[in-house]
Amino acid sequence: MDTRGLTVDLALPGGTVRVEMDVPMGEVPMERLLPALRTTADAFVAYGAEMSVAAGKPVSCAKGCGACCRQLIPLAHAEARAIAALVEELPEPRRSEVKERFEGAFRRVEAAGLAPALEGRTGRMAAEAVDLGLQYMGLGIACPFLEDESCSIYAERPIACREYLVTSPPARCAAPTVETIEAVSLPTRVWAAAAREEKGIANTDPAPCVPLVVALRWAASARDAAPLRPGPEILQKVYARFARDRRGEGFGR
Ligand code: SF4
Repeated sequence: MDTRGLTVDLALPGGTVRVEMDVPMGEVPMERLLPALRTTADAFVAYGAEMSVAAGKPVSCAKGCGACCRQLIPLAHAEARAIAALVEELPEPRRSEVKERFEGAFRRVEAAGLAPALEGRTGRMAAEAVDLGLQYMGLGIACPFLEDESCSIYAERPIACREYLVTSPPARCAAPTVETIEAVSLPTRVWAAAAREEKGIANTDPAPCVPLVVALRWAASARDAAPLRPGPEILQKVYARFARDRRGEGFGR
């Protein structure tokens, strides 16, 4: 597949964000754009962290702190397919081990009575998802990819994982509340823009998502083939959503 290098400069309050990425030229599913979208998210996160430092609020996340890796992680559908494919490509016995962790996590979710709500959340993320997220967090289920409090798929971790940075004390992330967590403000949420673009829905609609903990089950049962579109067109449309986010919703969460 032909891939071209692309550099984009985005003007934001307080500076310019430069994103350098490789874009597939042919007709591809959204997941082929994930490397470019992860790079984009990383650039926004670096910008957000810089603005936060300038405001006297340095980021408190540190290597080896996996407290946020027990949260409910929303994935765009393309990311859920990519995570399922990544697990299938793991060498044995690692693949079976990770799959068993997913199954174990799901058994705990079922025992807590959250399975219908979580599997139902493979539709659209809505306001009530905050409550569900807090209930899930209360179970203390470590992400199946967490090893020694570090991410074992760091380079390919979900976009929402990249977009979670705090300035509040890290210990608070073990039992987060809206009042105690101070998150770094970002210009937009790349995972949500990608999720909405994939389904062709408005920026004001809840973003369609799959919680990470049910991603393998969802991917195994998904019947719709991922739609194919030219890579540059997908990227341009996701980026156009960032601009609408900035105009319509302002900055931050
Ligand atoms: S994918 Fe990695 S960063 Fe994201 S929750 Fe899991 S271990 Fe943490």
